[in-house]
Amino acid sequence: MQKKQKGLVWFRNDLRVNDNESLTNAIDENEIVIAMYCFDPRHFKQTRFGFKKTEKFQAKFLIESVTALKQNLEKLNIQLLVYHQNPEDSIPEIVAQNEINSVYFQEEWTSEEMEVLENIKSKVSDSVAFKSTYNQFLFYPEDIPFDISSIPNVFTQFRNQCEKLTKVRSEFAVQPKSEENWTTNETVIPTMETLGFSDFEIDSRTAFPFCGGENEALQRLEHYFWKTKKLSVYKLTRNGLIGTDFSSKFSPWLANGSISAKTIYWEIVRYEQQIRKNDSTYWLIFELIWRDYFKYVSMKNGNSIFKIGGILDKKYDWKTNPSDINNWINGTTEEPFVNANMIELQQTGWMSNRGRQNVASYFAKELLLDWRIGAAYFEAMLIDYDVHSNYGNWMYVSGVGNDLRDRKFNIKLQAENYDGQSKFQKLWLQQQLF
Ligand SMILES: Cc1cc2nc3c(=O)[nH]c(=O)nc-3n(C[C@H](O)[C@H](O)[C@H](O)COP(=O)(O)OP(=O)(O)OC[C@H]3O[C@@H](n4cnc5c(N)ncnc54)[C@H](O)[C@@H]3O)c2cc1C
Repeated sequence: MQKKQKGLVWFRNDLRVNDNESLTNAIDENEIVIAMYCFDPRHFKQTRFGFKKTEKFQAKFLIESVTALKQNLEKLNIQLLVYHQNPEDSIPEIVAQNEINSVYFQEEWTSEEMEVLENIKSKVSDSVAFKSTYNQFLFYPEDIPFDISSIPNVFTQFRNQCEKLTKVRSEFAVQPKSEENWTTNETVIPTMETLGFSDFEIDSRTAFPFCGGENEALQRLEHYFWKTKKLSVYKLTRNGLIGTDFSSKFSPWLANGSISAKTIYWEIVRYEQQIRKNDSTYWLIFELIWRDYFKYVSMKNGNSIFKIGGILDKKYDWKTNPSDINNWINGTTEEPFVNANMIELQQTGWMSNRGRQNVASYFAKELLLDWRIGAAYFEAMLIDYDVHSNYGNWMYVSGVGNDLRDRKFNIKLQAENYDGQSKFQKLWLQQQLF
């Protein structure tokens, strides 16, 4: 008798069951499916600029996301094994113990992630198949009208061609396995304490009380699109600074894959058919294309996105003055608008896009500080940290990336335009002001 095919789904930044190509393929191709997630201890260590790679906001959000994933997989009769261990150690063991035939996962191309994968492959039998997909994109690499090496350095060229020639693929549906697939599971999801943090209360001033997980992401979609119809005015409100609904707030869920860009895209299309189609509905798609674009920028340029000269290999005289860096981090610079944004980040793990552009420009173009230090701080603090969007945007703002015009923000003017009555600054600087 032929042995049953067994598949392992290795979850990375695709923490969802809907529109998850790896999960769907594993279910379709195997009699037995198990799933796993690793809280990689290296993600909670200090990096070269002295910040933790992941701070408490992202850690809490991740724990919530994995908890939700486990519950959703249970409904499909699939166990999620969770480890606080390097994947190189856990995966070969699970593969051997369970006689796994195929490992399914989302492809990542940044060097650390590729090294992990190579290490895993070197520790498992050659007969095990590794099956990866690019499920994080709106426009799949196989479908875009460019070779990766010829991705344009100008966003508009990329967008125009993709919009003209690339179709967004449909979503993947998922069917439950039979009850026989259910196995015992003695692993536990780490707590904040295990990961080296204390639990904390959300600051009441937060722009959004984020909670991780696929269900929360779908609820947010429901709220922003169908309940409040805020999508219809997104383009008019997206530069806001205060409140839950000035922008979609999808980024933390998108970053760890609790929702896919395709799911959002197809929901926008439905909204356009049923409610209305206007500049705002299009603009959310436009922003999702930016997200894709920065993924392609990093795919094309490899480790250059982490280098001081960026993808342009620019030579600037960057400074590293510790007191300037600390003033920026602690919101004690000469610019109240920068300070308010930095305090918001410190207290909540969130900052608006307008805020991010301003504080990054101030860091790199005004204080002339090594942009990688600012990017590393964002990496630690942002609840929606995404390697491609973070380093891509930092390079862009710092003049070493895809902004060929190399602009600098006039912070005072920006504060006047976007916070004319200083409401935002008062919200975050009250201790200093009163
Ligand atoms: C210096 C700097 C660092 C940044 N770091 C990150 C990061 O680590 N993670 C991250 O997700 N975004 C990052 N961004 C992009 C952007 O600020 C956030 O995606 C956005 O503020 C998230 O809020 P939202 O979901 O309400 O966005 P919305 O305005 O509602 O946009 C919808 C989605 O489009 C995508 N998007 C929007 N703007 C951008 C952009 N400029 N670049 C790439 N994708 C975009 C995001 O996925 C976002 O969730 C950074 C921007 C700057 C200037």
